[in-house]
Amino acid sequence: MATYAEVTTRKIISVNPATGAALRELECASDADISAAVERARSAQAAWAELGVRRRVDVLRKFQSALHKKKSEITTAITREAGKPLAEALVTEVLVTLDAARFLIDNAFRLLRDEPLPHGNVATKLKRGRLLHEPYGVVGIISPWNYPFSIPATETLAALVAGNAVVLKPSELTPLVALGLASLLHGAGVPRDVFQVVIGEGPAGAALIRSPIDKLVFTGSVATGKRIAAAAAERLLPVVLELGGKDPMIVLDDTYVDVASSAAVWGAFVNAGQACLSVERCYVHRSLYEHFVAACAEKTKKLRVGPGEDRETDVGPMIHERQLRVVESHVEDARAHGARILAGGSRFLELGKNFYRPTVLADVSHEMRIMREETFGPVLPIMAFDSEDEAVRLANDSDYGLAASVWTRDSKRGERIARRIHAGTVMVNDAISCFGISEAPHGGVKASGIGRTHGRFGLEEMVRVKYLDTDQMPGMKKVWWYGYGESFRRQMEGFLDLQFARGISERLRGAVRASGSLWRKRL
Ligand code: NAD
Repeated sequence: MATYAEVTTRKIISVNPATGAALRELECASDADISAAVERARSAQAAWAELGVRRRVDVLRKFQSALHKKKSEITTAITREAGKPLAEALVTEVLVTLDAARFLIDNAFRLLRDEPLPHGNVATKLKRGRLLHEPYGVVGIISPWNYPFSIPATETLAALVAGNAVVLKPSELTPLVALGLASLLHGAGVPRDVFQVVIGEGPAGAALIRSPIDKLVFTGSVATGKRIAAAAAERLLPVVLELGGKDPMIVLDDTYVDVASSAAVWGAFVNAGQACLSVERCYVHRSLYEHFVAACAEKTKKLRVGPGEDRETDVGPMIHERQLRVVESHVEDARAHGARILAGGSRFLELGKNFYRPTVLADVSHEMRIMREETFGPVLPIMAFDSEDEAVRLANDSDYGLAASVWTRDSKRGERIARRIHAGTVMVNDAISCFGISEAPHGGVKASGIGRTHGRFGLEEMVRVKYLDTDQMPGMKKVWWYGYGESFRRQMEGFLDLQFARGISERLRGAVRASGSLWRKRL
């Protein structure tokens, strides 16, 4: 039996995290293979861009229909390699991707077509301005294992519809899911060189960054993101960085406790807590605290932990023991500093070495690692607060800023607090589902990253904006060309007054001075 992705010099073994069984051995791409893949992508990209948006949208339609037909096959492949329950694979991976395709099918043409840019400056009224949205060329995508299908797929679809070629380096823990994505895209009509997958660990990602790609979209940890930002800076490679999170959930004193406690339990344990948007910190108004904590503990104890392929499972295994050790160390630190463990708090060895019991911690504090570092596992740490200001201060007391949620019966109050929270997304009375809202931009502030994926802003990350300017009077010399002198200076002064002086009489005076000989002789 293999342990996780065992790497020899040139091989990776993909492993089922629930059972430890080897799924397939794959050869890693060498630096030369990666350069060659990028070269092939570059050669193929021009023809792909030439097709135009409407024909590329047709390809997306075929992809969407094939994915819908093969949803069970893809769902099972995701569950086998990443461990999550089948229902989660269906909703958070397949459905999210189908809907991202829907968004692009409906909107890509409108968002990518040339955009007129009217000029406000009177001096440039005779020019026609337009914004063009041109593909970068070859977009490199480096993706993580926790959403091995929906993350690279949603990024890839946006890159492709904008006319780019894509070279994807998936996580070494989930290469088979990426190959499944490639097979669907190629089957739908994306040329093989326009979408390629290169297999390997971190060094393969580093080689992709050194290769002549034109843009990089990276999703992963803050530590790797910083290394990538440094490498990208060396060659001024534009990057999107989708990094980690420590998302707070604020439960106000007027919240429906039954609803919010169910949300906290789902938000903390979905994908065994291995979601960048998962509820990593929970702050509850003191008046509800004991009631809320007890409800969370009770609901958590009812969760069915097991292999994702078992249809009754709520919480699957973690991806790898390495990740589980991080969780263990955070829980131990919290326990040592006085946290109460109300559910879980240990491994589930009867099920296998990658299983950890869903854990509820009460009475945590910001002195504990569990409230400061990304845990990325099935733990729900809960802390009491006394006032809105304190809740906002605690939520913002973090290096991260991916998303947050506020829970209240009063949506105006929730929105007022949401505006004060430093995060890329704040949801009022929901958490995490923003990732499945294809119109919504996804991305963070502070250490959670740079740039956006999804929606209009995600599509705009895949294009360079070019400004095209056409002067409509080709036979006329411009007034600002050579031929300066005092009279020209005064005329210009009058022209400035006409446009910018505050009082009407000043404007009129300026207009009189400016009138007449602006179109004088130029050199
Ligand atoms: P990771 O940083 O370990 O790896 C991510 C990818 O980077 C993998 O493909 C890996 O092989 C590659 N990589 C590693 N070292 C590299 C290097 N030096 N150069 C180039 N590539 C390199 O992250 P992970 O463990 O796969 O994923 C978990 C992390 O991802 C968590 O922190 C989670 O919050 C974050 N994440 C963020 C989002 C988001 O949208 N913000 C989404 C999912 C996951």
